[in-house]
Amino acid sequence: MANDSMLKFVGREQSYPAKRTADERQEDFREIAQRYAVEPAEEQAGRCSQCGVPYCSVHCPLHNHIPDWLRLTAEGRLREAYELSNATSTMPEICGRICPQDRLCEGNCVIEFTGHGAVTIGSVEKFITDTAWENGWVEPLVPGKSRGQSVGVIGAGPAGLTAAEYLRGHGYDVHVYDRYDRAGGLLTYGIPGFKLEKPIVMRRVERLKAAGIVFHEGFAVGHDASLDDLRQRHDAILVATGVYKARAMDLPGGGSNGVVAALDFLVASNRKGFGDAVPAFDDGSLNAEGKDVVVIGGGDTAMDCVRTAIRQGAKSVKCLYRRDRANMPGSQREVANAEEEGVEFVWLSGPQSFDGGDTVSSVKVRKMRLGAPDASGRRAPEPDPAGDYSVDADLVIKALGFDAEDLPTLFATPELGVSRWGTVLVDGKTLMTSLDGVFAAGDIVRGASLVVWAIRDGRDVAATMHKWLKTKAANAKVAA
Ligand code: FAD
Ligand code: SF4
Ligand code: SF4
Repeated sequence: MANDSMLKFVGREQSYPAKRTADERQEDFREIAQRYAVEPAEEQAGRCSQCGVPYCSVHCPLHNHIPDWLRLTAEGRLREAYELSNATSTMPEICGRICPQDRLCEGNCVIEFTGHGAVTIGSVEKFITDTAWENGWVEPLVPGKSRGQSVGVIGAGPAGLTAAEYLRGHGYDVHVYDRYDRAGGLLTYGIPGFKLEKPIVMRRVERLKAAGIVFHEGFAVGHDASLDDLRQRHDAILVATGVYKARAMDLPGGGSNGVVAALDFLVASNRKGFGDAVPAFDDGSLNAEGKDVVVIGGGDTAMDCVRTAIRQGAKSVKCLYRRDRANMPGSQREVANAEEEGVEFVWLSGPQSFDGGDTVSSVKVRKMRLGAPDASGRRAPEPDPAGDYSVDADLVIKALGFDAEDLPTLFATPELGVSRWGTVLVDGKTLMTSLDGVFAAGDIVRGASLVVWAIRDGRDVAATMHKWLKTKAANAKVAA
């Protein structure tokens, strides 16, 4: 009986895979969570109550068949569990690692609301697909019968890679252009290894390359070719360029040496992990070793910076955030991890100036307090008359979030429609931009978001592009 192995949430406690100790974690950039062994994975999957209306799936952007693959796992049918999980996601093992599950699937698991603790969905998902890779169950991508049409994908992040995978499966020639020298987008160069080890990303990229998807790495559209050039080369284009313009913070001393942008810091660190030569790391500019580090911001990027600084051997690491813990955008799990590793959070504090002359040596901090809720429902910070004070800092990392670059100018296509935030506008049904045959997906459409949403967008846009390309081919046949 299927349910013999299920519904165990009352007698069986929630148990996540063990984390490495904080001391061990500080020594390297390896992932902090261990992986389930077979037995605990099956036991934890068996806690699921197989809800008729699974809110976990409803709140998963991919609508993964969660209760079904949990049941298969609990029954020891791991290969089938993998196949089902793979049916809705191009990167289940990556989502299992870095989705903010507490806000998505697990945060909406009914068992959580009964006080028993959610089913550990993300950890089981990671276990299933890691096991599949180890056992050779992850099959090569088989290209569909050639259609004689080609697609250009600009951006090799999760949105572009997902669309490329599905389109190749439909039989298109797919070319992926990326200005970085490695594919993966923020999976490769933004997110640190302690959340997502890089071989996990690279094996996905290699699988796509083996299927004949052509990667043009180190190719910046707007520099090495214009969008129009690519439109001449391909039957359709996907813009999946993400958002990379760091939000500015115009404060006195903001241009001093030692005041750096979060992504520069994270990219340098990830490059070192790949063994690349990174002069700005080696000369100390983007290296936290031995320094008093102050990170400004309260989102996931800030969390990644503080934890990277700890691993680089910083003398002290403070995170300055203008709201309080309850009103921060970053994941509470990440805050807890950072605290365990020795980061000090300075809540209700905002920078006023970066002092010390040419090279920063301290940050003047203004105390804040929370006023009335703003349009987003979060209480807006306002200065607290309690006064200003200074903290030592010889590396300040600005992590205030990202906006879209000015793509119409960069791509030399002023007719590309964008919102007032610079994100690319698409038709809600076709996902096509204002330019015929040019589609868009991922962060460049949504604004800074999540990997799982980029995968979802890549899946959706591949379907609408396939439909559009079939019509284009049929019309060409009629006209011939
Ligand atoms: P990206 O991943 O940004 O990829 C876009 C690609 O386009 C890049 O490779 C870029 O080089 C390329 N590109 C841009 N312009 C051009 C051009 N002109 N020519 C050629 N190529 C170009 N999300 C989570 O779900 N969990 C997390 O833990 C998490 N942590 C994060 C940590 C950091 C530091 C950051 C910055 C983001 C994090 N995110 C996280 C968000 C997540 O990474 C993004 O939402 C996701 O990567 C967006 O995917 P994308 O494919 O739209 O864009
Ligand atoms: Fe949960 Fe993310 Fe996996 Fe969906 S993709 S089941 S939200 S971990
Ligand atoms: Fe299982 Fe929780 Fe999903 Fe219900 S909400 S099906 S208990 S994982």
